[in-house]
Amino acid sequence: MNRFAFASARTIKEAAAAASTTVAQAMTVSPEAMEQAETAIVKANGIDVLDLLKEGLLKPSRIVSLARIPGLDEVGEDKDGGLRIGPMVTLAALAGHHLVRERYPALADALDGAASPQIRNAATLGGNLLQRPRCWYFRSQAFRCLRKGGGHCFAITGENQYHAIFNNMPCAIVHPSTVATVLVALGATIELTGPGEAARQMPLEDFFVPPERDLQRENDLRPQEIVTAIRLPKPSPGTRMAHLKQGEKDSFDWPLADVAVVLEFDGAGACRRAAIVLGAAAPVPHRAKTTEAALVGRRIDETVAASAGRAALAGATPLSKNAYKLPLFEALVRRAILKAAG
Ligand SMILES: Cc1cc2nc3c(=O)[nH]c(=O)nc-3n(C[C@H](O)[C@H](O)[C@H](O)COP(=O)(O)OP(=O)(O)OC[C@H]3O[C@@H](n4cnc5c(N)ncnc54)[C@H](O)[C@@H]3O)c2cc1C
Ligand code: SF4
Repeated sequence: MNRFAFASARTIKEAAAAASTTVAQAMTVSPEAMEQAETAIVKANGIDVLDLLKEGLLKPSRIVSLARIPGLDEVGEDKDGGLRIGPMVTLAALAGHHLVRERYPALADALDGAASPQIRNAATLGGNLLQRPRCWYFRSQAFRCLRKGGGHCFAITGENQYHAIFNNMPCAIVHPSTVATVLVALGATIELTGPGEAARQMPLEDFFVPPERDLQRENDLRPQEIVTAIRLPKPSPGTRMAHLKQGEKDSFDWPLADVAVVLEFDGAGACRRAAIVLGAAAPVPHRAKTTEAALVGRRIDETVAASAGRAALAGATPLSKNAYKLPLFEALVRRAILKAAG
C-alpha cells in the first residue's frame, strides 16, 4: 500500500472540491504514472477502497473521507411520498428502515441478502453503487487489462464463469451491485453534487455506463462530484415486487445471478407496467425490455411467467464457461414474476 494523506471533509462542497479524480480514472493510468500523479479520491466506509489499496491497484496521494459530513446518512420521505436516501446510509440501516420494509420489500430482500452482516453494517449505499467490478483479472496487479488502460481482455478466452452473458465484448464484467438491480427496477434516480451550486439528477439506469460508451468506468461520476442522494418514487397502488438471487453460498459472496421484478396491476388484475432487471448478467444492470412489454395487459400465471423466463434470455451470448447462467436466469425470472404476482 502506498503512503497517502488523509482528510475528513466537513461539507459536501469541501469534499467535492477536494476530489480531484474518480477512483476509475485514477486506476486507468499505468502503475508508474499512478505513483507520481497527484490524485485525491473520496471514500465512504472504505471496504472497496481498502481492497484496491491493498492490492496495489489504486495509489492515491490523498484520501478524503465523507464519514463526517452531516446529513449524508439520513433516510427520509420526499414531499411526493418517495424516499430520499443519503449515500452514507449503510446497507444494514437501509434494510431495517420501516419505509423500505413496508413499501419496497424487494429492496429489503436484496439488502438483507448482500455480503454478510458485518459487511452490511459498514458498507454504504453510495459505495455499493460505485464499487469496482469483481473480475479477477481486473482485481489482480498481474493483468493490465482493457478496463485498466491495457490492450487485452483476459476473461473472454480465460476464466469467465462469473462474467457477463449479455453485451460482453470487448469487456465481460458484470455489474457488481446487487442493490442496483432492484433500484433500477424501482425507477430510482441519483443526485450528484459538485463544488458549484446546481446538483445533477438522472435516472440511476442512465448513470451506469456500458463498455461501448466507455470501457474504463462503470458509471458517470465525474471528478469533483459526490453522490448526495438516491431517490425512489412512491410505488403506485397495485404495485408488487420481488428480488431473487442465486449464489454459490448464501452469505459473504456476490450472486451468480439475481433478478428484480416490479409489476403494477390494474383493478381487474392485469399487469399495467412491468420492470424486469437481471443482475450479474451484463456490465450494467440489464433490463429485459421486450419481456417487460410482453407482460403488459396480461394476467400472470405459470404459463406467462415461464414464457417470460425464456424470452428474457433473448440476445444472450454466453462465453466459454458461463452458459450455465442461461437456465439459472430463466428459472429466476419465472420464479420472481410468480413471487411478485402472488
Ligand atoms: C466479502 C464481500 C461480499 C460482498 N457481497 C456483496 C453482494 O452480495 N452484493 C453487493 O452489492 N455488494 C457486495 N459487496 C460489496 C460491498 O457492498 C461494497 O464494497 C460496499 O458497499 C462499499 O461501500 P463502502 O462504504 O465501503 O465504499 P468505499 O469503499 O468507501 O467506496 C467505494 C467506491 O465508491 C466511491 N464513493 C463512495 N461514496 C461516494 C459518494 N457519496 N460519492 C462519490 N463517490 C463515492 C469511492 O470513491 C469508491 O470508489 C461485498 C463486499 C465484500 C467485501
Ligand atoms: S472482463 Fe473487463 S475487467 Fe475483466 S479482464 Fe476483461 S477487460 Fe478486464
